[in-house]
Amino acid sequence: MKTALNLVNVTLEYPDGDGTLKALDNVSLKVRPGEFLSLVGPSGSGKSSLLAVAATLVRPSAGLVVIDGQDAGGLSDAARTSLRRDSIGIIFQQPNLLPSLTAVEQLVIGDHVRGKPARAAVERATALLELFGLGPALAKRPHQLSGGQRQRVNIARALMGSPAVLLVDEPTAALDHDRSEAIVRLLRQVTDEFKVATVMVTHDTEFVPLTDAVASMRDGRLAAVRALSPSLP
Ligand code: ADP
Ligand code: MG
Repeated sequence: MKTALNLVNVTLEYPDGDGTLKALDNVSLKVRPGEFLSLVGPSGSGKSSLLAVAATLVRPSAGLVVIDGQDAGGLSDAARTSLRRDSIGIIFQQPNLLPSLTAVEQLVIGDHVRGKPARAAVERATALLELFGLGPALAKRPHQLSGGQRQRVNIARALMGSPAVLLVDEPTAALDHDRSEAIVRLLRQVTDEFKVATVMVTHDTEFVPLTDAVASMRDGRLAAVRALSPSLP
């Protein structure tokens, strides 16, 4: 099966006093469609840097970033923006929803940028939110939603463009245990149903068994990816 996300010998350096700090040190990683990878490691080990490079938000100092068969390094800024919009879904810890918009509007606003007709976008947004159990919340604004519901809207928004790759940075950090588990199970479900390649940074090692494989980072280096036995029901 083709690789949705392929990082090849990626290094990311930041200036650090007189020297440089390697936030990523020769990292290679492949994630296939329908594969759900957990990324763990201590604070400062480079997890968010890996997501930022994979998201094409930060250009690496060296190495290749290939998304859905396209080499992001060879693209202009405008072409990278299109690639990101069409092929990558990004989910951060805080849902970052716009306070004045309803759940449906949060999802549809990005589709104006994609240039799709509004009607089709509203239908897709409604279907995604209903799939996520948010049917009764379609017209609610963020302050009328629970933390878990807001994170579901956030995930639905990331899926609006039918991405090949889903990058998730500590999605459960602001949630209690039961809501955290529900969010990771939802990510498992969308990874399977939409055949997206999902990378989730997490501190909650408890939920790692719901994913297909785990990779750990330390000092910018990625240890070998370890496959997990078939996941729990
Ligand atoms: P993690 O997400 O695992 O906590 P990060 O990827 O955020 O780690 O950071 C990895 C290293 O890179 C850290 O030492 C951090 O201080 C450094 N770093 C991250 N972003 C920047 C930046 N924009 N400028 C300089 N150093 C950075
Ligand atoms: Mg981080």
